[in-house]
Amino acid sequence: QVFSIDSGEPRGALAADPPLYPTDEFLAEMAAESAKLETATPQEILRWAVDRFAPKFTMATAFGPEGMTIMHMLAEIAPETPVFNLDTGYQFKETLELRERVKEKYGIEVEYKLPDTTVQQYEEMHGGPLYATNPNQCCFDRKMRPLHEAAKGQHAWASAIRRDQSPDRAAAPIVGWDKKFQLVKISPLANWTKNQVWDLILKESIPYNPLHDQGFPSIGCQPCTRATQLGEDERAGRWAGFEKTECGLHNS
Ligand code: SF4
Repeated sequence: QVFSIDSGEPRGALAADPPLYPTDEFLAEMAAESAKLETATPQEILRWAVDRFAPKFTMATAFGPEGMTIMHMLAEIAPETPVFNLDTGYQFKETLELRERVKEKYGIEVEYKLPDTTVQQYEEMHGGPLYATNPNQCCFDRKMRPLHEAAKGQHAWASAIRRDQSPDRAAAPIVGWDKKFQLVKISPLANWTKNQVWDLILKESIPYNPLHDQGFPSIGCQPCTRATQLGEDERAGRWAGFEKTECGLHNS
């Protein structure tokens, strides 16, 4: 049986349970919408996403400046949108505190998605911290697995990536099919620059991670993030010393 989100079936738990099936027709429709949305504002893109996919529309955030910007927009457009954070157990305390600031300012309660082991259990299982020797496996166990769980039953998710963040992200569509998670991936800030994000953050007093003021442009888990020097790529401080620039969420 082929399910499509516009099948005319009643909305609700039963109809929504099957995942989206990416027929050629559906993928062509998403590509056409993506092309149309190239000139839309991030708010217009989010509105489109909510109209098209809610209540099966969600967002994962690491509380970066782009994610904070999207949450600020969602608070006006659709504050009921479920937002979650992959809490690996290795996040900075400043990052965890941001969750509380988001709740206070916007009433959005970001849900933590947890791995199936605590940090202590995980390190005991592996005879020490795996991030030091095999960060790909660590990211897989502590981010990717919980993300796959979180993606179940959803049809679309918002991503906070910008095309100018790194060469890997330069070709990201506004609306694309995320094969890895079997979801429609919507990137409302794909066309925005870092300056546009920070202009809005400062203008609207959007909460942000204080570590950004201490030389950390991109913040992940504490052991895998370092401050960067002037002129370095903004993700250069992630997994420094390893041939790794993405945790696996955004590369296919
Ligand atoms: Fe583990 Fe580092 Fe990946 Fe966090 S970023 S899950 S600590 S490897």
